[in-house]
Amino acid sequence: APLVRFRNVRKSYDGLAPAVRDLSLDVAAGEFLTLLGPSGAGKTTTLMMLAGFERPDSGDILLEGRPIARTPPQRRGIGVVFQSYALLPHMTVAQNIAFPLQLRRVPRAEQADRVARALDMVRLTGLGERMPAQLSGGQQQRVALARALVFAPRLVLLDEPLGALDRRLREEMQLEIRHLHKQLGVTMIHVTHDQAEALTLSDRIAVFAAGALRQLGTPEALYDSP
Ligand code: ADP
Ligand code: ADP
Repeated sequence: APLVRFRNVRKSYDGLAPAVRDLSLDVAAGEFLTLLGPSGAGKTTTLMMLAGFERPDSGDILLEGRPIARTPPQRRGIGVVFQSYALLPHMTVAQNIAFPLQLRRVPRAEQADRVARALDMVRLTGLGERMPAQLSGGQQQRVALARALVFAPRLVLLDEPLGALDRRLREEMQLEIRHLHKQLGVTMIHVTHDQAEALTLSDRIAVFAAGALRQLGTPEALYDSP
């Protein structure tokens, strides 16, 4: 069975034209799937529904065969890196990363150990006591990634995680995300409007336009065919 299943999912905001219309999509465990498409295509709405932040008007979203509940995503084993879900500025880097562990009531001693390992994983060893404002943009994005990975999630949702970075840093972080995906074997669903980024990172690409899934396939199948 797929890890994630969307079945005929529809969502509109306040009587406007549907942001997502009749979406059916399966995501396999271990897969790196990118939702690609222009601004307004419905990618973020799709991810927000999977995170449990928005509810579909109709249709089903299943995680391991069960409907998505409206509890914090971390409680359901989902790590999120959203642009709108920034670091807490009054907390240290380590406290930010430990936050989902506290939500999940992980014992204190284990928290410190896991935070230290997550910092190593994103190459920020020793920076746990810093405040977010003392880090560069790229480092802050790594902290957000560490926070999403710290509790060994079964699913990680990434919404334009590299959007604010310059090109060189962006390419460096693409390689790191790819490496982490392989190393951890975790399922990742990633949103971008950047076609090159989708091609670099993904096992499969879902192309969205005007709220609809238009194409679905491997990078090769989508872009190498005549
Ligand atoms: P994408 O992530 O592909 O840019 P979105 O899912 O953010 O697309 O948006 C899809 C459509 O839904 C757009 O028309 C957008 O304006 C609208 N939309 C998104 N979020 C809201 C909201 N909170 N309230 C009203 N309309 C929204
Ligand atoms: P408290 O809420 O008791 O004051 P903290 O806010 O200092 O605890 O820390 C929150 C969590 O982050 C704790 O689980 C702690 O073990 C962990 N932590 C704090 N600083 C570090 C660090 N530099 N490296 C690794 N883990 C840390």
